[in-house]
Amino acid sequence: MPAPAPPGADPIDNLKVIGGRLKAALAEADREDAHISILAVSKTQGPERILPLLEFGHRLFGENRVQEAQGKWPALKSRFPDVELRLVGPLQTNKVGDAVALFDVIETLDREKLARALADASAKAGRAPRLFVEVNTGEEPQKAGVSPKDADAFIDKCRREFGLQVDGLMCIPPTDEAPAPHFALLAKIARCNGLSSLSMGMSGDYVIAASLGATQVRIGTGIFGAR
Ligand SMILES: *Cc1c(COP(=O)(O)O)cnc(C)c1O
Repeated sequence: MPAPAPPGADPIDNLKVIGGRLKAALAEADREDAHISILAVSKTQGPERILPLLEFGHRLFGENRVQEAQGKWPALKSRFPDVELRLVGPLQTNKVGDAVALFDVIETLDREKLARALADASAKAGRAPRLFVEVNTGEEPQKAGVSPKDADAFIDKCRREFGLQVDGLMCIPPTDEAPAPHFALLAKIARCNGLSSLSMGMSGDYVIAASLGATQVRIGTGIFGAR
């Protein structure tokens, strides 16, 4: 499978190229009927870098820090109210209220304390972001995410004990390993739990993720260039 091309200077052109490559990957994997969303990961990018994509019509964006997102997205959202904003970075419980107010989807649910805080904050706000459980497929000690062996029980607990709507799974494979086994493992855990949304694949490996069942890829440098 070809490695993704390095990004060009124009984020809109990059977005189009990535869309074409995803389509080709789906065809090759006999997934023609599937659709893969491109989450434009706009962390560290100022509004002037984000605006052209919004004006072009792109609506799906990801950030990895609550505070940074609070600084730039309320103004952008007031101009483009149909934007969907997703949190892809770790969430501390003291930021849960802010995250629930700002994000439409939180992709990094990975522990009971956070599940409880999200349930409480959503009830209080009358607004419940959709949730993805992050799985630490490589069982890396420094990385967030629930361990694969605990994933089934954790998802069940989120649903039954905390009444949370879990929509899908997310993973970030170890940087020094082939990503394919990690994507396959995430897809297997999703199947076991009746989940159809898989957030996997970044700038360096989105083509592989597309062939293994991704429904969303998260692309930062591949769209905006090096951070
Ligand atoms: C930054 C980030 C991305 C995008 O990474 P790129 O390699 O720049 O495409 C994807 N997912 C998460 C969780 C990130 O923090």
